[in-house]
Amino acid sequence: MNIPFDFHNHSTQSPDGENSVEEMVLRAIELGMKHYTITDHLEINKFYDEEFLYEEPVRQSSVILPQLKEKFKDRISLQYGVELGQALHDMTLTNRMLDSYNYDFIIGSCHMVRGYDDFYFLDYNEIDPQFLLDIYFEELLEMAEWAQFDVLGHLTYPLRYIVGDKGIAVDMEPYKAIIDEIFRTLIKNNMGIEINTSGLRQKIGRPLPDFEYVKRFYDLGGRILTIGSDAHCCEDLGKGIAEGIEIAKNAGFSEIACFKNRKPEFIKI
Ligand SMILES: [Zn+2]
Ligand SMILES: [Zn+2]
Repeated sequence: MNIPFDFHNHSTQSPDGENSVEEMVLRAIELGMKHYTITDHLEINKFYDEEFLYEEPVRQSSVILPQLKEKFKDRISLQYGVELGQALHDMTLTNRMLDSYNYDFIIGSCHMVRGYDDFYFLDYNEIDPQFLLDIYFEELLEMAEWAQFDVLGHLTYPLRYIVGDKGIAVDMEPYKAIIDEIFRTLIKNNMGIEINTSGLRQKIGRPLPDFEYVKRFYDLGGRILTIGSDAHCCEDLGKGIAEGIEIAKNAGFSEIACFKNRKPEFIKI
């Protein structure tokens, strides 16, 4: 089966991407995709880090993407997206970056909560994972209320590291109420969630978020859902999309959203 789409992935316009945007687009075409959105990182709280200065790559992408859309328009429907990380950590910068470019699609992500590094780097012997999850979900709720993005990126991201890599069990029961509140807020604001299939090829072995959350979102009335591999190289592009589609169908979805000019178009699954 051809892989129909991929709505979350990274190129060398991200600090951790391995292939150029054009290489990624060619791979998407090779995989038979009809719809493809590149979503390079824009990490607001790391914007001025010396290791990777975002200003220039983000500006470059705004030039490259329209050119590639035109170049490949007969072969694939290409969209210009961005994965906006930690948007609330510097609102002046976030607003400037949102006003400066014409993104098709914005994934709102939280890779680290205020005052702490990326969940990937934290030492869970020193910081209580349960405490971190408390503030993680509070920050997601704040993001959903702010509402200036299209879908919430990889809900349950910290579990990739806490449960997957470190093997620490966490009790998710205390978060049911706040996750419902996050979902209700997203739905009220005409926003969605994604199924991020990266977890399927990582130690955690589950998508982010898992089926039960996708179903809960649907049951509460959520109808905007995207699916993305979160590939950082050509090789991973499209991985897990077929499994993601099955999860979406089992949760009740019959359509997946593809954003163009910040508006969802629906693709039957
Ligand atoms: Zn991410
Ligand atoms: Zn990503």
